Amino acid sequence: MVFPPSRIPDTTASPSNPPAEARSEGRVPLAVGIDIGGTKVAAGVVDGRGRILAELRRSTPGRDARAVEQVIVELVGELAARHDIEAVGIGAAGWMDLAGERVVFSPHLAWRDEPLQATMESLLDRPVLITNDADAAAWAEWRFGAGRGHERLIMLTLGTGIGGALMIDGRVERGSFGMAGEFGHQIIMPGGHRCECGNRGCWEQYASGNALGREGRELAKKHSPMAAGLLAAVHDKPKDITGNVVTELALAGEATAMELVAEVGDWLGLGIANLAAALDPALFIIGGGLSAAGELMLEPARRAYSRNLTGRGYRQEAVIAAAQLGPTAGLVGAADLARTRLGAQPRPGGRGA
Ligand SMILES: [Zn+2]
Repeated sequence: MVFPPSRIPDTTASPSNPPAEARSEGRVPLAVGIDIGGTKVAAGVVDGRGRILAELRRSTPGRDARAVEQVIVELVGELAARHDIEAVGIGAAGWMDLAGERVVFSPHLAWRDEPLQATMESLLDRPVLITNDADAAAWAEWRFGAGRGHERLIMLTLGTGIGGALMIDGRVERGSFGMAGEFGHQIIMPGGHRCECGNRGCWEQYASGNALGREGRELAKKHSPMAAGLLAAVHDKPKDITGNVVTELALAGEATAMELVAEVGDWLGLGIANLAAALDPALFIIGGGLSAAGELMLEPARRAYSRNLTGRGYRQEAVIAAAQLGPTAGLVGAADLARTRLGAQPRPGGRGA
Protein backbone atom coordinates (compact mmCIF):
# COMPACT_ATOMS: atom_id res chain seq x y z
CA MET A 1 0.00 0.00 0.00
CA VAL A 2 1.16 3.56 -0.59
CA PHE A 3 -0.15 6.42 1.49
CA PRO A 4 0.22 10.19 1.42
CA PRO A 5 3.79 11.12 2.39
CA SER A 6 2.57 13.32 5.23
CA ARG A 7 1.23 10.20 6.93
CA ILE A 8 4.33 8.09 6.60
CA PRO A 9 7.37 9.06 8.63
CA ASP A 10 9.35 6.12 7.27
CA THR A 11 7.98 4.25 4.30
CA THR A 12 10.86 1.79 4.18
CA ALA A 13 10.06 0.15 7.49
CA SER A 14 7.30 -2.37 7.93
CA PRO A 15 5.48 -3.63 11.00
CA SER A 16 6.91 -6.65 12.65
CA ASN A 17 5.78 -10.12 11.74
CA PRO A 18 4.75 -11.81 13.96
CA PRO A 19 3.39 -8.67 15.61
CA ALA A 20 5.52 -7.24 18.39
CA GLU A 21 2.34 -6.77 20.41
CA ALA A 22 2.05 -10.52 20.68
CA ARG A 23 5.21 -10.44 22.74
CA SER A 24 4.47 -7.47 25.02
CA GLU A 25 1.53 -6.79 27.26
CA GLY A 26 1.54 -2.97 27.02
CA ARG A 27 -1.59 -1.06 26.02
CA VAL A 28 -2.07 -1.11 22.28
CA PRO A 29 -4.26 1.39 20.48
CA LEU A 30 -7.49 0.15 18.97
CA ALA A 31 -8.79 0.64 15.46
CA VAL A 32 -12.08 -0.05 13.76
CA GLY A 33 -12.08 -2.14 10.61
CA ILE A 34 -14.98 -1.88 8.16
CA ASP A 35 -15.64 -4.50 5.50
CA ILE A 36 -18.17 -3.38 2.90
CA GLY A 37 -19.62 -6.32 1.03
CA GLY A 38 -22.37 -6.52 -1.55
CA THR A 39 -24.94 -7.46 1.09
CA LYS A 40 -23.43 -6.65 4.52
CA VAL A 41 -21.35 -3.93 6.12
CA ALA A 42 -19.33 -5.37 9.02
CA ALA A 43 -17.50 -3.23 11.56
CA GLY A 44 -15.23 -4.42 14.35
CA VAL A 45 -12.93 -3.06 17.04
CA VAL A 46 -9.57 -4.76 16.56
CA ASP A 47 -6.62 -4.78 18.96
CA GLY A 48 -2.92 -5.03 18.20
CA ARG A 49 -2.99 -8.83 18.16
CA GLY A 50 -5.71 -8.93 15.51
CA ARG A 51 -8.42 -9.87 17.99
CA ILE A 52 -11.93 -8.55 17.40
CA LEU A 53 -13.18 -7.04 20.67
CA ALA A 54 -16.62 -6.02 19.38
CA GLU A 55 -18.40 -6.45 16.08
CA LEU A 56 -21.53 -4.99 14.44
CA ARG A 57 -23.24 -5.74 11.14
CA ARG A 58 -25.78 -3.92 8.97
CA SER A 59 -27.30 -4.66 5.59
CA THR A 60 -25.59 -2.78 2.76
CA PRO A 61 -28.10 -0.05 1.84
CA GLY A 62 -28.18 -0.73 -1.89
CA ARG A 63 -25.75 1.07 -4.16
CA ASP A 64 -26.36 4.52 -2.70
CA ALA A 65 -22.90 5.82 -1.71
CA ARG A 66 -24.22 8.45 0.73
CA ALA A 67 -26.33 5.85 2.53
CA VAL A 68 -23.30 3.52 2.84
CA GLU A 69 -21.26 6.38 4.28
CA GLN A 70 -24.03 7.05 6.81
CA VAL A 71 -24.06 3.40 7.88
CA ILE A 72 -20.29 3.58 8.46
CA VAL A 73 -20.72 6.72 10.57
CA GLU A 74 -23.38 5.00 12.70
CA LEU A 75 -21.34 1.82 13.18
CA VAL A 76 -18.17 3.69 14.14
CA GLY A 77 -20.15 5.97 16.47
CA GLU A 78 -21.66 2.98 18.24
CA LEU A 79 -18.28 1.25 18.65
CA ALA A 80 -16.45 4.44 19.67
CA ALA A 81 -18.94 5.00 22.49
CA ARG A 82 -17.49 1.96 24.24
CA HIS A 83 -13.89 1.80 22.97
CA ASP A 84 -11.00 4.19 22.54
CA ILE A 85 -10.66 4.27 18.74
CA GLU A 86 -7.75 6.09 17.15
CA ALA A 87 -8.12 5.18 13.46
CA VAL A 88 -10.58 3.60 11.04
CA GLY A 89 -9.75 1.30 8.12
CA ILE A 90 -12.33 0.80 5.38
CA GLY A 91 -12.03 -2.13 2.98
CA ALA A 92 -14.17 -2.65 -0.11
CA ALA A 93 -13.98 -4.53 -3.37
CA GLY A 94 -12.65 -2.25 -6.04
CA TRP A 95 -9.73 -0.18 -7.17
CA MET A 96 -8.23 2.47 -4.94
CA ASP A 97 -5.79 5.10 -6.19
CA LEU A 98 -2.15 4.70 -5.19
CA ALA A 99 -2.33 7.58 -2.74
CA GLY A 100 -5.08 5.80 -0.79
CA GLU A 101 -7.37 8.80 -1.15
CA ARG A 102 -9.93 7.83 -3.76
CA VAL A 103 -12.04 4.85 -4.70
CA VAL A 104 -11.57 4.72 -8.47
CA PHE A 105 -14.22 2.06 -9.04
CA SER A 106 -16.19 -0.28 -6.81
CA PRO A 107 -18.25 -3.01 -8.46
CA HIS A 108 -20.96 -3.33 -5.79
CA LEU A 109 -21.26 0.35 -4.91
CA ALA A 110 -21.82 3.68 -6.60
CA TRP A 111 -18.37 5.07 -5.81
CA ARG A 112 -16.69 6.30 -9.01
CA ASP A 113 -13.49 8.30 -8.54
CA GLU A 114 -14.79 9.18 -5.09
CA PRO A 115 -12.54 11.05 -2.58
CA LEU A 116 -13.68 8.64 0.11
CA GLN A 117 -10.79 9.15 2.51
CA ALA A 118 -11.36 12.91 2.90
CA THR A 119 -15.14 12.44 3.08
CA MET A 120 -14.90 9.81 5.81
CA GLU A 121 -12.23 11.68 7.80
CA SER A 122 -14.49 14.72 8.00
CA LEU A 123 -17.52 12.58 8.91
CA LEU A 124 -15.67 10.45 11.49
CA ASP A 125 -13.23 13.05 12.81
CA ARG A 126 -10.47 10.43 12.86
CA PRO A 127 -7.70 9.29 10.50
CA VAL A 128 -9.18 6.98 7.88
CA LEU A 129 -7.44 4.51 5.61
CA ILE A 130 -9.20 3.05 2.58
CA THR A 131 -8.08 -0.21 1.04
CA ASN A 132 -9.04 -2.96 -1.34
CA ASP A 133 -10.65 -5.87 0.54
CA ALA A 134 -8.25 -8.48 -0.82
CA ASP A 135 -5.25 -6.34 0.14
CA ALA A 136 -6.69 -6.07 3.65
CA ALA A 137 -7.21 -9.83 3.90
CA ALA A 138 -3.65 -10.48 2.71
CA TRP A 139 -2.31 -8.05 5.30
CA ALA A 140 -4.29 -9.78 8.07
CA GLU A 141 -3.11 -13.26 7.07
CA TRP A 142 0.48 -12.00 6.91
CA ARG A 143 0.30 -10.38 10.34
CA PHE A 144 -1.83 -12.88 12.23
CA GLY A 145 -2.59 -15.95 10.10
CA ALA A 146 -1.20 -18.35 7.50
CA GLY A 147 1.34 -15.82 6.18
CA ARG A 148 3.29 -15.24 9.38
CA GLY A 149 7.02 -15.39 8.79
CA HIS A 150 6.73 -15.13 4.98
CA GLU A 151 8.13 -12.12 3.16
CA ARG A 152 6.67 -12.90 -0.26
CA LEU A 153 3.20 -14.34 -0.65
CA ILE A 154 0.08 -14.24 -2.77
CA MET A 155 -3.38 -14.25 -1.23
CA LEU A 156 -6.33 -15.48 -3.29
CA THR A 157 -9.88 -15.08 -2.01
CA LEU A 158 -12.29 -17.33 -3.88
CA GLY A 159 -15.91 -16.25 -3.75
CA THR A 160 -18.11 -14.79 -6.47
CA GLY A 161 -14.81 -14.09 -8.24
CA ILE A 162 -11.13 -14.22 -7.30
CA GLY A 163 -9.73 -11.46 -5.14
CA GLY A 164 -5.97 -11.25 -5.20
CA ALA A 165 -3.11 -9.52 -3.45
CA LEU A 166 0.66 -9.78 -3.66
CA MET A 167 2.81 -9.09 -0.62
CA ILE A 168 6.52 -8.42 -1.02
CA ASP A 169 8.81 -7.69 1.92
CA GLY A 170 5.95 -6.94 4.26
CA ARG A 171 3.99 -4.61 2.03
CA VAL A 172 1.11 -5.05 -0.37
CA GLU A 173 2.39 -4.43 -3.89
CA ARG A 174 -0.08 -2.20 -5.76
CA GLY A 175 1.75 -1.84 -9.09
CA SER A 176 2.39 1.43 -10.94
CA PHE A 177 -1.27 2.42 -11.23
CA GLY A 178 -2.83 0.78 -8.19
CA MET A 179 -4.25 -2.14 -10.15
CA ALA A 180 -1.88 -4.98 -9.24
CA GLY A 181 -3.35 -8.21 -7.93
CA GLU A 182 -6.24 -8.61 -10.39
CA PHE A 183 -5.15 -12.20 -10.88
CA GLY A 184 -8.72 -13.39 -11.44
CA HIS A 185 -8.75 -11.66 -14.81
CA GLN A 186 -5.76 -13.43 -16.30
CA ILE A 187 -7.20 -15.04 -19.43
CA ILE A 188 -6.77 -18.75 -18.96
CA MET A 189 -9.12 -19.98 -21.68
CA PRO A 190 -9.28 -17.71 -24.76
CA GLY A 191 -12.85 -17.58 -26.06
CA GLY A 192 -14.13 -19.19 -22.86
CA HIS A 193 -16.87 -18.10 -20.48
CA ARG A 194 -17.77 -14.42 -20.52
CA CYS A 195 -16.56 -12.49 -17.46
CA GLU A 196 -18.17 -9.49 -15.77
CA CYS A 197 -15.07 -7.51 -16.78
CA GLY A 198 -16.13 -7.90 -20.41
CA ASN A 199 -13.45 -10.35 -21.51
CA ARG A 200 -13.82 -14.06 -22.10
CA GLY A 201 -11.99 -16.88 -20.38
CA CYS A 202 -10.85 -15.09 -17.21
CA TRP A 203 -9.50 -17.36 -14.45
CA GLU A 204 -12.28 -16.40 -12.07
CA GLN A 205 -14.81 -17.87 -14.47
CA TYR A 206 -13.18 -21.27 -13.79
CA ALA A 207 -11.86 -21.19 -10.23
CA SER A 208 -14.44 -19.42 -8.06
CA GLY A 209 -17.63 -20.15 -6.14
CA ASN A 210 -19.62 -18.78 -9.06
CA ALA A 211 -17.85 -21.14 -11.46
CA LEU A 212 -18.62 -24.10 -9.20
CA GLY A 213 -22.30 -23.17 -9.06
CA ARG A 214 -22.47 -22.68 -12.83
CA GLU A 215 -20.95 -26.12 -13.48
CA GLY A 216 -23.41 -27.72 -11.07
CA ARG A 217 -26.40 -26.00 -12.72
CA GLU A 218 -25.18 -26.95 -16.18
CA LEU A 219 -24.93 -30.58 -15.20
CA ALA A 220 -28.39 -30.53 -13.60
CA LYS A 221 -30.00 -28.91 -16.64
CA LYS A 222 -28.64 -31.67 -18.88
CA HIS A 223 -30.58 -34.17 -16.77
CA SER A 224 -27.39 -36.13 -16.33
CA PRO A 225 -27.78 -39.09 -14.00
CA MET A 226 -24.64 -37.72 -12.35
CA ALA A 227 -26.69 -34.73 -11.17
CA ALA A 228 -29.19 -36.75 -9.10
CA GLY A 229 -27.53 -35.87 -5.79
CA LEU A 230 -27.30 -32.17 -6.68
CA LEU A 231 -30.95 -32.00 -7.73
CA ALA A 232 -32.15 -33.81 -4.64
CA ALA A 233 -30.41 -31.21 -2.48
CA VAL A 234 -32.31 -28.33 -4.14
CA HIS A 235 -35.71 -30.06 -4.52
CA ASP A 236 -35.27 -30.40 -8.30
CA LYS A 237 -34.69 -26.68 -8.87
CA PRO A 238 -31.43 -26.45 -10.83
CA LYS A 239 -31.31 -22.67 -10.49
CA ASP A 240 -30.86 -23.08 -6.74
CA ILE A 241 -27.56 -24.88 -7.20
CA THR A 242 -24.88 -22.45 -6.02
CA GLY A 243 -21.21 -22.79 -5.23
CA ASN A 244 -22.10 -23.08 -1.55
CA VAL A 245 -24.59 -25.89 -2.22
CA VAL A 246 -22.02 -27.86 -4.23
CA THR A 247 -19.33 -27.25 -1.59
CA GLU A 248 -21.56 -28.48 1.22
CA LEU A 249 -22.54 -31.59 -0.75
CA ALA A 250 -18.88 -32.30 -1.54
CA LEU A 251 -17.97 -32.02 2.14
CA ALA A 252 -20.78 -34.48 2.87
CA GLY A 253 -19.20 -36.92 0.41
CA GLU A 254 -21.53 -36.58 -2.59
CA ALA A 255 -19.48 -37.99 -5.50
CA THR A 256 -20.47 -35.55 -8.27
CA ALA A 257 -20.06 -32.52 -6.03
CA MET A 258 -16.63 -33.78 -5.03
CA GLU A 259 -15.72 -34.13 -8.70
CA LEU A 260 -16.88 -30.58 -9.48
CA VAL A 261 -14.88 -29.18 -6.55
CA ALA A 262 -11.81 -31.11 -7.73
CA GLU A 263 -12.27 -29.64 -11.23
CA VAL A 264 -12.27 -26.15 -9.75
CA GLY A 265 -9.13 -27.16 -7.86
CA ASP A 266 -7.51 -28.15 -11.17
CA TRP A 267 -8.20 -24.70 -12.61
CA LEU A 268 -6.98 -23.11 -9.41
CA GLY A 269 -3.67 -24.96 -9.60
CA LEU A 270 -3.19 -24.08 -13.27
CA GLY A 271 -3.61 -20.36 -12.57
CA ILE A 272 -1.33 -20.59 -9.55
CA ALA A 273 1.37 -22.17 -11.74
CA ASN A 274 1.08 -19.14 -14.05
CA LEU A 275 1.44 -16.78 -11.10
CA ALA A 276 4.44 -18.76 -9.83
CA ALA A 277 6.11 -18.44 -13.25
CA ALA A 278 5.70 -14.66 -13.09
CA LEU A 279 6.19 -13.88 -9.42
CA ASP A 280 7.75 -16.90 -7.64
CA PRO A 281 6.32 -16.47 -4.14
CA ALA A 282 6.99 -19.16 -1.52
CA LEU A 283 3.37 -19.22 -0.34
CA PHE A 284 -0.12 -19.01 -1.80
CA ILE A 285 -2.88 -18.51 0.77
CA ILE A 286 -6.37 -19.57 -0.31
CA GLY A 287 -9.26 -17.85 1.45
CA GLY A 288 -12.82 -16.75 0.69
CA GLY A 289 -16.07 -18.71 0.87
CA LEU A 290 -14.96 -21.46 -1.49
CA SER A 291 -11.97 -22.28 0.74
CA ALA A 292 -14.51 -24.06 2.96
CA ALA A 293 -14.01 -26.96 0.54
CA GLY A 294 -10.55 -27.36 2.11
CA GLU A 295 -8.43 -30.26 0.95
CA LEU A 296 -11.12 -31.43 -1.51
CA MET A 297 -10.07 -28.41 -3.59
CA LEU A 298 -6.52 -27.75 -2.37
CA GLU A 299 -5.19 -31.22 -3.02
CA PRO A 300 -6.15 -31.21 -6.75
CA ALA A 301 -4.90 -27.61 -6.91
CA ARG A 302 -1.48 -28.66 -5.63
CA ARG A 303 -1.30 -31.48 -8.16
CA ALA A 304 -2.30 -29.22 -11.08
CA TYR A 305 0.19 -26.62 -9.88
CA SER A 306 3.04 -29.15 -9.80
CA ARG A 307 1.99 -30.53 -13.18
CA ASN A 308 2.01 -27.13 -14.87
CA LEU A 309 4.83 -25.37 -13.03
CA THR A 310 7.58 -24.11 -15.29
CA GLY A 311 10.96 -25.56 -14.33
CA ARG A 312 9.29 -28.35 -12.33
CA GLY A 313 11.76 -30.82 -10.95
CA TYR A 314 14.48 -28.17 -10.90
CA ARG A 315 13.03 -25.62 -8.51
CA GLN A 316 11.53 -25.32 -5.07
CA GLU A 317 7.76 -25.42 -5.09
CA ALA A 318 5.55 -22.96 -3.27
CA VAL A 319 3.23 -24.02 -0.47
CA ILE A 320 -0.50 -23.75 -1.22
CA ALA A 321 -2.21 -23.34 2.16
CA ALA A 322 -5.66 -22.53 3.48
CA ALA A 323 -6.25 -19.10 5.03
CA GLN A 324 -6.53 -19.13 8.82
CA LEU A 325 -8.57 -16.06 9.68
CA GLY A 326 -11.86 -16.85 7.98
CA PRO A 327 -14.40 -14.30 6.78
CA THR A 328 -13.28 -11.55 9.16
CA ALA A 329 -9.80 -11.29 7.58
CA GLY A 330 -10.79 -8.20 5.58
CA LEU A 331 -12.13 -6.40 8.63
CA VAL A 332 -9.09 -7.28 10.77
CA GLY A 333 -6.69 -6.30 8.00
CA ALA A 334 -8.35 -2.94 7.33
CA ALA A 335 -8.22 -2.11 11.05
CA ASP A 336 -4.61 -3.22 11.46
CA LEU A 337 -3.48 -1.32 8.37
CA ALA A 338 -5.19 1.80 9.72
CA ARG A 339 -3.69 1.34 13.17
CA THR A 340 -0.14 0.65 12.01
CA ARG A 341 -0.13 3.28 9.24
CA LEU A 342 -2.18 6.06 10.77
CA GLY A 343 -2.07 5.45 14.51
CA ALA A 344 -0.79 8.28 16.69
CA GLN A 345 1.31 6.02 18.89
CA PRO A 346 4.80 4.97 17.83
CA ARG A 347 5.18 1.34 16.90
CA PRO A 348 6.29 -1.00 19.69
CA GLY A 349 10.06 -1.35 19.57
CA GLY A 350 10.34 2.05 17.89
CA ARG A 351 9.81 0.79 14.36
CA GLY A 352 7.97 3.17 12.06
CA ALA A 353 5.03 1.92 10.05
ZN1 LIG B 1 -12.49 -10.89 -16.22
